[in-house]
Amino acid sequence: MAEGIEGKVIVITGASSGLGAAAARLLAEGGAKLILGARRAERIDSLARDLSDGTAGEVIAVTTDVTDALQVRRLVDGAVSRFGRIDVMLNNAGVMPLSPLDRYKVDEWDRMIDVNIKGVLYGIAAALPHMQKQKSGHIINVASVAGHTWFPTGTVYCGTKWAVRAISEGVRQEVKPYDIRTTIISPGAVATELLDSITEADVLQATRKATSIAIPADSFARMVAFAISQPDDVDVNEILFRPTRQQG
Ligand code: NDP
Repeated sequence: MAEGIEGKVIVITGASSGLGAAAARLLAEGGAKLILGARRAERIDSLARDLSDGTAGEVIAVTTDVTDALQVRRLVDGAVSRFGRIDVMLNNAGVMPLSPLDRYKVDEWDRMIDVNIKGVLYGIAAALPHMQKQKSGHIINVASVAGHTWFPTGTVYCGTKWAVRAISEGVRQEVKPYDIRTTIISPGAVATELLDSITEADVLQATRKATSIAIPADSFARMVAFAISQPDDVDVNEILFRPTRQQG
């Protein structure tokens, strides 16, 4: 597993829980140098301490809100000044406050757009100049099965994840001259804290039921490791995975 991962400098947004934290654990075991970003400082600090103690990699935490482009730039620039380069930008932070449109939770629509779309764009904006200069790098954006389909209550969330896929494919085509790889990872139901962002009680209850087949977060971590560990001339552009028992 360490092959193709050891020594790589990897920035992860949304590393304080769920998929981001699971990816951090596996990549640290593989000997990566990690920079963890999220708003909950105590969570990423303690994860960074744990991983630095128990694994081959070096891990640092930088409190970051991805809705602030300057904070994301500081996260990435910090990685480059500490480790001299950035090999992988994993734009993973996301929120999913599902609700039917006619409940008009406009503030939640805004938050999904700010975190799920603008956060990814800010990650690209922060990492790309370094990667262009290096003439190497790998941008991994986390979309969703919801970026391949639609469902009631998921209109805005699906819209943000479709946008992530569109943006990722655009980036893929534009960065060709720089030997930069791009990967979209679209998970199905994975057991994390994601449902905690749902504020409508009936939607939360229905979503918990629908996602009772969720699989553990290390499934995602293995997909990330697979994409990163390919040889430099192999660009895994899209991975979609679900629990075996998930229908939609
Ligand atoms: P979690 O809720 O467990 O993790 C979400 C992460 O995003 C947290 O680390 C949180 O950190 C971070 N985050 C949220 N808002 C911000 C912000 N403004 N700035 C920085 N970080 C932020 O959920 P998941 O691990 O499941 O979610 C990770 C990604 O996976 C998301 O993009 C989600 O849409 C996607 N996904 C998840 C699926 C699932 O079934 N779990 C399925 C498909 C896609 P903090 O609050 O500390 O800032």
